[in-house]
Amino acid sequence: KAKVYTLPDHKIDLRLVSRNAIKVCEVLQEKGYEAYIVGGAVRDLILGYEPKDFDVATNATPEEVKKAFRRARIIGRRFRLVHVVFGNEIIETSTFRAPGEQTRDEHGRILNDNIFGNLQTDSLRRDFTLNALYYNPIKQEVIDYHNGVGDIRKKIIRIIGDPETRYREDPVRMLRAIRFAAKLDATIEKNTQASIKPLASLISNVPDSRLFDETLKLLTCGNALNCLKKLREEGLDKGIIPLLDMVLEQKGSRQFIELALDRTDHRVRSNRPVSASFLYAAILWPLVQRYYQKNMASGHMLPVPALVAASNQVLDEQVQRLALQQRHKSEIREIWLMQPRFNKRAPKYIWRMIEQPYFRAACDFLQIRAAAHEFDSVLAQWWMDLANAPDSEKAHMINELL
Ligand code: ATP
Ligand code: MG
Repeated sequence: KAKVYTLPDHKIDLRLVSRNAIKVCEVLQEKGYEAYIVGGAVRDLILGYEPKDFDVATNATPEEVKKAFRRARIIGRRFRLVHVVFGNEIIETSTFRAPGEQTRDEHGRILNDNIFGNLQTDSLRRDFTLNALYYNPIKQEVIDYHNGVGDIRKKIIRIIGDPETRYREDPVRMLRAIRFAAKLDATIEKNTQASIKPLASLISNVPDSRLFDETLKLLTCGNALNCLKKLREEGLDKGIIPLLDMVLEQKGSRQFIELALDRTDHRVRSNRPVSASFLYAAILWPLVQRYYQKNMASGHMLPVPALVAASNQVLDEQVQRLALQQRHKSEIREIWLMQPRFNKRAPKYIWRMIEQPYFRAACDFLQIRAAAHEFDSVLAQWWMDLANAPDSEKAHMINELL
């Protein structure tokens, strides 16, 4: 039986709701379908936060949804859904799912999930109670089958159904439990938590690209350090960032990564963009340093080739598991290889450096190195000032060096 909350109970501020998401619900409802805003957006709205994206769930099939909107495309194979496009906002619209004829692998992981169902069956296949709320923005009602509203208010992350089965179906849910706990400063309910450690190794069974998406969400949830700490406690860190454990064992490396994550958290909390490449460049930097020092100690390498070799080695080792795309890989390399160039302040070189597309990112990166006492902080600040200065001022700063 579902609980239904009306405005005085859920107190959702309609001004925080995307007009486009409301539009999608309206259009589908006018055509006689059910349509609700669902998932993280409803959770955030009840907490009083502005959601960053909106998902809609409906009993219309993907084809029917596509037909109802001018700009809409069906995407996904494992899980077909419709992207309804409004300018630069996309409303992800999925058809109610039902458990049943899914195909599973030998560990119980669901490989395909395209059986349509109704509102209630759809709520059963969602991950946590607080993510299984359905908001009808026209009636301003929230439908709650699993006491998700209660759990939001008590800040409890509680899996829907039997934890072991649900984690086997999709091991990524273990990472999600930890992310939501860190992000919302919530506690993980006892049984939801207890099954994580014994099943942690199933993470290795998840396709790399999905792992990349969830890991990135983890690292950019605004509370990354807390996340990382919890991941380590549950034995989940090794699966997602190979060698991270090794890096974190060493005090110097740990400090560097903590500074980088702290900076990321600040950016996230003030709604500034965070680049995946930058983040991974920072997380992997201590490893690059280590290989670099080894190369230098061998006695027959010059600094630049030693850095290039170290960078390549780290990227080769990590690129597969981290599912880094080629684009990320080259951005990361640029950020790293530009670092030694900050040691030299010869005007001729500086002009060339400024023109590099990743100068800005490399300069930001330098600030973390300075905070970690790896680089002179006064000099690092000079570079940052240069990056921020208007062109006329840049010339002035550079000419002063002559
Ligand atoms: P965020 O704020 O990070 O976007 P979210 O809850 O919206 O959080 P999404 O990954 O955008 O997370 O997923 C949207 C919704 O889809 C979730 O709220 C949940 O109901 C459902 N969902 C997502 N991933 C899973 C999963 N692995 N298993 C079950 N349900 C899931
Ligand atoms: Mg979301």
